This record gives sequence, C-alpha cells and structure tokens, in this order.
Amino acid sequence: MELGIKKHVEDIYKCTRCGYCREMVREEVNTFRVCPIRENTPGFEAYTSKGKMLLMRGVLEGTLDLTPKLSEIVFTCTTCGSCKTHCPVGIDTVGIFEVFRNDLIRQELGLPSHTMYGKYAMEKMNPYNEPHEDRMAWLPESVEFSKPAEIAYFVGCTSAYRQQEIATATYKILKKIGVDFTILGPDEWCCGSPLFRTGQLDLATKLAQHNIEKLNELGIKQIVFSCAGCYRTFAMDYKNIGKLKAKPIHFTKFIYNQIKEGKIKFKESPLKVTYHDPCHTTRSMKKADYKSPRRVINSLPGVELIEMVSTKEGSMCCGAGGGLKSAFSDIAVSAAQKRVQQAKETGATHLISTCPFCRRNLMDGNEKGNLGMKIMDLTELILERME
Ligand code: SF4
Ligand code: SF4
Repeated sequence: MELGIKKHVEDIYKCTRCGYCREMVREEVNTFRVCPIRENTPGFEAYTSKGKMLLMRGVLEGTLDLTPKLSEIVFTCTTCGSCKTHCPVGIDTVGIFEVFRNDLIRQELGLPSHTMYGKYAMEKMNPYNEPHEDRMAWLPESVEFSKPAEIAYFVGCTSAYRQQEIATATYKILKKIGVDFTILGPDEWCCGSPLFRTGQLDLATKLAQHNIEKLNELGIKQIVFSCAGCYRTFAMDYKNIGKLKAKPIHFTKFIYNQIKEGKIKFKESPLKVTYHDPCHTTRSMKKADYKSPRRVINSLPGVELIEMVSTKEGSMCCGAGGGLKSAFSDIAVSAAQKRVQQAKETGATHLISTCPFCRRNLMDGNEKGNLGMKIMDLTELILERME
C-alpha cells in the first residue's frame, strides 16, 4: 500500500522538534497550553504533534510498523489544529494527521467506535444509528421540504438527533425574522464531518457527493449552518470533492448581517457571558471568524462579554472533536472540564458557543466538575432575548 503521508514527507521532516505544539507562552493571545491531549493524559510525547511527526518519520523510514498501538496514538487527538496554529515553521500538522488516519483506515487499523459510525452513516445517513425518517422530528410544525428557495438551513446530525434545542432555536429565529429558506428534510444526509476527521475518506466522499448534488439541483445560493463541524466540512472539505454552487455561511455571521440591517430587536437584561470559539469556525478555516460571534453578543443589550484566559487563536479545544469523544470519552470530558473551569474564572454565569458538539461536551465537563455554569448555544441566547 502506498502511504498517503509520503506526499507530505517534506513537511514531516521540517519539524524542528521545538515543542511549541505542546506548550508555549504567547502573551498577546494568552496561550500557555497548546494541546488538549497533552493536558489531559499523562503527557507522553508520542501523543503530541511533535511526537506524531516523529512517529511518521519512523513509519516512512521503515523503523516503525502500522500497528493497533500506533493507531490508538494517532486517533488520540481532537484535530483541533492548535498545534498547527502555534507551529513556527508552518506545518499543516492536522492536515497530515488526517492523511495518516486514512493510511491506518486503509490498513483496517481504524478504531471500532469510528468505523462503526462510518457504517451507520452509510446505512442511516447519520452516525448515531438513528432512523433517517426521524431526522426532522424536532421541527415544531409541518414543513414542505426541499422547496424552491435561495437559502437552505442545513441542520446536521448532531442538532437533528442530539442537540435539538439548537435546530429549534435556529429555525424559530429564521422564521421570526421572515427569512425565505428551505430545509432539505430526508434529502439531507450527514455532511461527512465525523468520517473526514477520522480518515474515512471514501465513505465521507459518498455523503458529500449526495449533498452537493441535492443542493445544486435545488438551485440554493446560500447554505446556513448552526453546526460548526458541518460548516467547516462544506466550506473546506467539499472543495476537494465537487462543485458546490451555494455559498456556505455559519449562522453567526448570517445573523450578524441581519442585526446590522436592523431586522432584529432585542429585550434588555443584564447578563455576564463568556465565549468559546469552536475550532471548526476558526483554526480549521482558511480565514478564522473571531469577530461575528463577539459582534452578535455585543449587540445584545445588557450582555457583557468577558473573555477567558485562553481565547481566539489561543483558545483551548473543548475536547469533543476528531472522534475523541466517541473513542476516548474520559479524555474528552476532562478537556471540557478544564475549559469550563476557565469560563468560570471569568466571573460570567453563561458559557456560549456556536457548535452543537462543543455544547454537548462542555455540558459534560460542567457536570463532571460540578461547576455550575450555564452552557448555551448562541442561537438559544438570541432566541431568548428576541422581542
Ligand atoms: S511546533 Fe511544529 S516544528 Fe515545533 S515540534 Fe511541533 S510540529 Fe515540530
Ligand atoms: S490537533 Fe489538537 S489535539 Fe491534536 S495534536 Fe494538535 S493540538 Fe493536540
């Protein structure tokens, strides 16, 4: 088997082993700890980006074999991209990890919890093994699916089946402000994000091709996402698969444009919040969007935004991504607990994010640490305060 990582040999050997992907001090972004895995495991080098670069060298040089242990190390990573952001020689660390994951998948060395949701996504169009016909069960009213419209709301599996409050809030906000939009209903399949992130590229491609075809057929011009993972997948991964005619936009940016145009009126009441940037709207994108969620929060009368010690470029991952939550839940929840602790230290009562996966894991971390924060998606906060 030809290894995919061979194409990245130059980058892999560019690693100077400086260790900035483990920890560093960058005062301007308050970054002290870089890798959530390093922070939530005994700290063995192999589990950091630097260690993985060395492991790949070993595989390329033939001194290391692809084994289940190696696979366990490579999949113990949230693919948060923090190491990439902090790498002084500009290695696309996380892009290479995903290629390495695909090498392992092709050798049938994927982790069972990941390959299982690959199978479910193929059979039921969602990785949760839920009936496809229940995908839109959260809708508060009956809706004509895939109707002609310029804007589509792509719900995503996590909001459709596990974090339905986000889907409902997004839907209600769009309706309240009179946006003419459609929902694909049964034509919406998993975006493929969990499969792209865990190296299951062949399966992810099939899902992507279906979604691209449906959206193109409907003549959609703009797709709105309340899920950061779906948004990143459409905006970044789909480019390598097909020509999507519509422009993906995260709900946060979409709603800020509506606020700017004066289409939303809010009630005033005092509240202290802090904000967690999902990796998928920031580090994973070609251009990170740190501004839109902060602008939206600052548009809410009476709401005070207090930043956490690690924020924006230096934001600590919530721990949920890259398949970590399904395969190594303890590490994922422990990362979330640390993040919620940072939130609590700001003095805010509410921790806001813009990703259903962050919401879920931060809630788990909040509960594990008995931290008493209120975890909310920005859509819920907006709806709560709309007149
Ligand atoms: S920060 Fe970059 S160059 Fe430094 S050890 Fe990590 S991957 Fe290698
Ligand atoms: S992508 Fe995130 S979790 Fe994975 S090695 Fe890099 S910093 Fe650590």
